[in-house]
Amino acid sequence: MVEYVVIGGGVVGAATAWSLASRGAEVTLLEANELASGASGGPGRRGVRANGRDLRELPLARRALELWPELDGILGAPTGYRRNGLLRVYDVEIAGVSGWQSLPARVQAQRAAGVPCEIVDRARLDEMQPGIAEQVRFALYAPNDGTADHPATTRAFAKAAVELGAIIIEQSMVDKLAAGRDGSVVVHLATGDRLRATRGVILAANRSAPRLLGDSAGLSLPMWEKATQITFVTAPPGFTLNHQIGHSRRSLSVKMTDEGHVMLSGGRPGGWDPVSGVGTPDPEVLRSTMADVAATLPALADAEVVAVDNSRADTSTIDLIPVIDTVPGMESVFVAAGWSGHGFALAPAVAEALTTWALDGTRPESLRPFTLDRLGAASRN
Ligand SMILES: Cc1cc2nc3c(=O)[nH]c(=O)nc-3n(C[C@H](O)[C@H](O)[C@H](O)COP(=O)(O)OP(=O)(O)OC[C@H]3O[C@@H](n4cnc5c(N)ncnc54)[C@H](O)[C@@H]3O)c2cc1C
Repeated sequence: MVEYVVIGGGVVGAATAWSLASRGAEVTLLEANELASGASGGPGRRGVRANGRDLRELPLARRALELWPELDGILGAPTGYRRNGLLRVYDVEIAGVSGWQSLPARVQAQRAAGVPCEIVDRARLDEMQPGIAEQVRFALYAPNDGTADHPATTRAFAKAAVELGAIIIEQSMVDKLAAGRDGSVVVHLATGDRLRATRGVILAANRSAPRLLGDSAGLSLPMWEKATQITFVTAPPGFTLNHQIGHSRRSLSVKMTDEGHVMLSGGRPGGWDPVSGVGTPDPEVLRSTMADVAATLPALADAEVVAVDNSRADTSTIDLIPVIDTVPGMESVFVAAGWSGHGFALAPAVAEALTTWALDGTRPESLRPFTLDRLGAASRN
């Protein structure tokens, strides 16, 4: 018996285990493989950004950006966090909210949500980041955005959780959850063992969440698995990246890695088999990525490709924001998944808010947009 069981040792599960333990709760985290073996692992770095995010995520993103710079010190282990700002570039005007005509409105909304940002004109952009393609007219700069090392962050949360008394068990696959009569939840492990969670379960199993909720609660969770393809290229002589670069209408995000390579991502999925959990790089996606980078940072157009990776899958939802909610019929089970490529940056704030909800019983305002209901998630029973 334990007060809380956290299922999944990615960044969300590890951060929540730490957060619960730091408020005095008794926690056991069960991980099917090893820590950071899902979307929170793999090569490169992950963006920690609020700039350009869905407006409904901004309260969480703002809080996360307050927490990130403190984490190394609080956790007593490195997260690799670096705050170098993000330039989101705008070229041609297009219909909708991706064109430069929308910039003042976005600045207003982001600032109102507590996310500092400013419009940068072409002359200033050249000073801030030489080498941006000619057709770019403006950028939206958010100085508080940055990047961090995702597996290191996950392990840092886990280590700090253990130091506060949490138990972490790897190679421990959860098969099913069952509601106990007294409001507890019985966690069934693949070994046949059971663990009773007297106060709650945090389901942070990401791509296994739909299956677990289908089997345990008859719930159809409308999410799919997406293995974003990332490319690493050699930085040409003299090339420097002063900030992360994003693009308002291209699937492109540009970061420097610790090894001195340039990492190109942005959300295009490579091949992925959800049954085996194996990704296969897609040459067409690589071609599109290189075309996007050539149109944004021409110095990288002919850069040597050193690696392509799509070994990790995140879960996506139709409106591209996560589900963070309780499960109908199992109100002490909290599901947090469907990150749509944003879960890493948000994790410290999500963990804090989930902890408040689980311990105090009231859904924090910052989690209100992320209901199951909005997706038409339906019970099959
Ligand atoms: C290539 C790529 C680039 C990305 N870039 C960014 C970015 O720049 N910024 C950003 O914010 N986000 C980014 N993301 C998204 C982010 O990495 C994820 O949203 C985040 O890591 C999700 O964390 P998680 O803990 O929920 O899930 P995961 O890290 O997937 O962890 C889930 C864990 O649950 C375990 N598990 C599964 N089933 C069971 C079970 N039955 N029993 C026990 N354990 C189980 C798994 O083994 C896994 O370790 C990116 C994702 C990818 C793949």
